[in-house]
Order: sequence, then C-alpha cells, then structure tokens
Amino acid sequence: EFKVKSDIEIAQESELLPIQKIADRVGLSSEDVEYYGKYKAKISYEKIRELQKNKDGKVILVTSINPTPAGEGKSTVTVGLGDALGRLGKKTMIALREPSLGPTMGIKGGATGGGYAQVLPMEDINLHFTGDLHAITTANNALAALLDNHMHQGNELNIDPRRIVWKRAVDLNDRALREIVIGLGGPMQGVPRQDGFDITVASEIMAVLCLSSDLEDLKHRIARMVIAYTYDRKPVTVKNLGVEGAIALLLKDALKPNLVQTIEHTPAIVHGGPFANIAHGCNSVMATKTAAKLADYVVTESGFGADLGAEKFLHIKSRNAGLQPEAVVIVATIRALKMHGGLAKNELTFENIMALEKGLENLMKHIETVSHFGLPYVVAINRFSADTESEITVLQKWCERYSIPVALTEVWEKGGKGGLELAEKVLQEIDRNERSFTYLYDIQAPIEEKIRTIVQKVYGGKDVEFSVKALKQLKDFEQFGWGNLPICMAKTQYSLSDDPKKPGRPVDFIIHVRELKPKLGAGFIVALTGEMMTMPGLPKNPAAYGMDVDEKGRAIGLF
Ligand code: ADP
Repeated sequence: EFKVKSDIEIAQESELLPIQKIADRVGLSSEDVEYYGKYKAKISYEKIRELQKNKDGKVILVTSINPTPAGEGKSTVTVGLGDALGRLGKKTMIALREPSLGPTMGIKGGATGGGYAQVLPMEDINLHFTGDLHAITTANNALAALLDNHMHQGNELNIDPRRIVWKRAVDLNDRALREIVIGLGGPMQGVPRQDGFDITVASEIMAVLCLSSDLEDLKHRIARMVIAYTYDRKPVTVKNLGVEGAIALLLKDALKPNLVQTIEHTPAIVHGGPFANIAHGCNSVMATKTAAKLADYVVTESGFGADLGAEKFLHIKSRNAGLQPEAVVIVATIRALKMHGGLAKNELTFENIMALEKGLENLMKHIETVSHFGLPYVVAINRFSADTESEITVLQKWCERYSIPVALTEVWEKGGKGGLELAEKVLQEIDRNERSFTYLYDIQAPIEEKIRTIVQKVYGGKDVEFSVKALKQLKDFEQFGWGNLPICMAKTQYSLSDDPKKPGRPVDFIIHVRELKPKLGAGFIVALTGEMMTMPGLPKNPAAYGMDVDEKGRAIGLF
C-alpha cells in the first residue's frame, strides 16, 4: 500500500547544506553571521546596519481564507512560492514566524510548512530553535518579578496591586494558569494579589521584539510599556520602574534574525512569532527588512485569514516598518471552502460542488478586503489529493467569471516545481504595477472609529458594541493620549465574526469588544472581542500524545 510520508519523515530525509553555503547565496560572509550549530545562524547587527543602504526588494504577502480544521497550508505555500521564484531565477528569501510550543503540543503540530515545501531543520525550529522564545519568556517574567519585588520593598511608585496589568508568560497552552493568586504565605512571601499567565506569543515583549528596528528602538519600546496603574489611576511604565536596560539585555541576541534553509536550499529567515488572533501575527520587522535588503523578492506570511494577519500586517507592521507588499497571495483549499459551505470535517473526502460553491463567499470577502487596501493579488488553490477535477474546475471557472487571478498550487507534493504557475502569476501582477495601497483607517481617528472601520470594511460586520468596561477604557485611553495608535484586534480566526461557530460569510453581525489593552511598547491598542483568551488551553487529544524521541535523539510525531 502507498503510504504518504509525513512532514517530519520528509524533513529528516532531506539533505541540508551547511548554513554558510546558504548565507553565501545572499552575500552574507562568515563575518556577517553567528552560527548556532551547523544549520542555523543569526545575522549580526553590524551587517544589518551596513545593509540599510541597499534598496528594498519586493515583498509578497501570503494570507488565506478563514482557517478551518481542514487546514489551509499558508506556510506551505509561502515556502513553496519562495522555492518556485528561486527556480525562475529570482533572488528570493522567505520570511516566516517562529513556531510556538502551545499549538505544536496542542492541535497544530509544527509550523514549518509541509510536504516538500518546508524550512529546515524542522525539529529544531519547532522545538527550542535558537532560544528566542526562551529569551522572550524570561524577559517577560523578569519584569514581573521586578515589579512584585518593588511592591514587596515598599511600593514607592504607589502601584495599586489590583491594577497591575503586566502578566507572567509561558510558551505553552496551560489554561490552569489563566487566573492565579501569588504572594501567599505571609509578609516574607511578597504582596498577595491576583495574577495570571499569557502564552509567550501573546506577550507584549514578543510584539516589541517583532516591531523593533534595532536594539535602541527595542529599549525605548520596553521603557514605554504600561505595567500597572497607581492608586490614583495613573499609568506606570517600565521606565518608571527603571529596568528597561535589564529587560533589553535579556533580548540582545533574540532580536537578531535567524537564517535557515528550505528543502530546496532557498534562504529563509525565521524570526518572531506572535499569534494572529490574540496578537499582531507577523514575523519580525528585522527579519522582513533584512530579507528585503538581501534579496529581490521576499515571500512572507501573516497568520490566519486576511481578516486577522493581513489586516494587522498592513495596518501595524507596514505602517511601522515602511514596508508595503507589492502583491498578496490568498491561499484557499477546496476542503476548507467546503467547510465554509457547511460541511463537517468527516464529510470532506467526497465531492460536493454545492458546499464548495457556498463556501466561495468566504474567499470573496477576503478578496474584497485585499482590494480595499489597493493591492494586487493571486488566489492559490493549495491542492489536496482528495480534491476532484470537477471541484477544481468549479473554483477555476468561478475565478474566471470574476476575473480573479488564480493558480493551482502543488508545492506540498512537488516542492517549488509545483508553484511555478503561482510564481509566474504573482510576478505578472507585480509587473502590471497597478498597486494603489491605502490604509483603511486614519491613524488619528478615535479608537472607537478605527475599530468600527475594521469591523465593517474587513469583517463585513454591521457594527461594534463595547462592554461597560471597554467604554470606560475608551475614555481613559483618549485622555492618556493613547488615541492615535493603530488597533490590534483579538478575534477568533475561525469566523469573520467574533463567534467561531459562524463560518462562511456571516452578515449583519455585531462584534463585541470586551476589553482594551494598551500596548504602548508595541505601539498599538489591543481590542479583545468575543470569548478570545490570551492563554489558550489544550484540546482533548493533544498532539503531544503522538510525540516521542528515539535513542539517537530524533523527534517522532512533530507531524
Ligand atoms: P497554515 O500555515 O495555514 O497553518 P501549514 O502550511 O502549516 O498551514 O500546513 C498545515 C498542515 O497541512 C501541515 O501539516 C501540512 O503538511 C499540511 N498540508 C498543507 N498543504 C497540504 C496539501 N496540499 N496536501 C496535504 N497536506 C497539506
């Protein structure tokens, strides 16, 4: 019987080149990189500074329809498109996020692409990699410890223990840590208070690392972070506590972008990994910018659907870094479209044109959103083996009818060879040069209006409703002078609405904003909608149950 190889089997069978060989391809000498073993390296600050004089390559942003449990394959297509552009003779780099152990041990498995479109070394990248996540977690928790020590040592800053907003962090899904009590045991054990953990990838330190342009900028951003309020409700920042130097020090190597390779030896930078539902969802500015300075084309991805990752890429990261994509790739699968059309996961193996046609309305919404931003796009049909010819034809005909550029993409099965059509169409879109990029909201508009614009223009919703707490915060935040920041929406990835049980293209819905969080270091205001939580839980059958390690130290079951 023919057995399909798993991602990890393919990864382990692939031959890696020494990382210097990859560095050579984009003009990085052994002086420019710092090796982390044979196949990983960080790029030095000196080199990054020197590169600033180069002109920027063209950025291609990969996004998708709303994800479903059927899988979309955005990272897979990102890697495959990078390999395909390389095959067409274009000097290309890929820029991806670093995986988090939360989803890896939970439902998703690894996040390094799949099939023959993967970045390597897959095991390392999915586990502890170059230690960036450790450094971010530690920086986050050092700040928490210093804050609690300040409370214990007399609380000179007059911090109200009930209004501390800085939480602890761990890079795991651990729902039991969402709400905790600390400092119990009497006067020797600190000041008792309610506390909680976020997953590391939702922490502001992660966002700061991803949006900083260099170490100085990182330190300034850390200094600006709001960690608590005083008894008279004034914000307290890291600068007030006076520890931005120590926190920046803990991140001094984590801020350097990590260089790795794809199965086809295309250079890739994997750096920074905020989630796109509860955080801003893009790899680091340092990574994307460095890639753009080194290559003529950069393929990068933003998390989940265009309603989350792409919206935040364009409103937050692009604005921050001055890097705008030349074209967008919208990944869709027949399977996921059928789920948007109402099918359950166990009904996907059979042809169902009706469900597919119904599900196309979800794709249409994301196409409209990308068009609102004035960006050219190509739809990539990420082909799964169970897709039937008639289903693919229906999707292609639908695209033809609306003049939507589309490419059948088989990078999972064939690597870069399976992405040539997509690469050619993306290049065509870039060459047509009809981009007229525009932000959907004015940064100076009130917070409330900015959120409403996202709800209406990006989600297709009717309006936004604020809780009593959020209404009070709207007032406070404008008063503190935080009104002119972009918004980082925290919303379920499964639906355009804030209800994960509404796939397809829901209409007339209201988005419920429960709470706002000021992230002045990152430079945005988080709006928590629906039931969204910043510490996920594990599912009933976590992926961890299928994991193992053999006597040689090789990973098993990382998907
Ligand atoms: P995303 O970035 O959208 O979360 P990934 O690229 O990480 O998705 O892919 C998720 C999983 O789906 C991976 O295990 C990958 O191997 C698998 N996958 C992706 N594309 C295909 C495909 N065309 N056929 C089969 N499996 C695929």
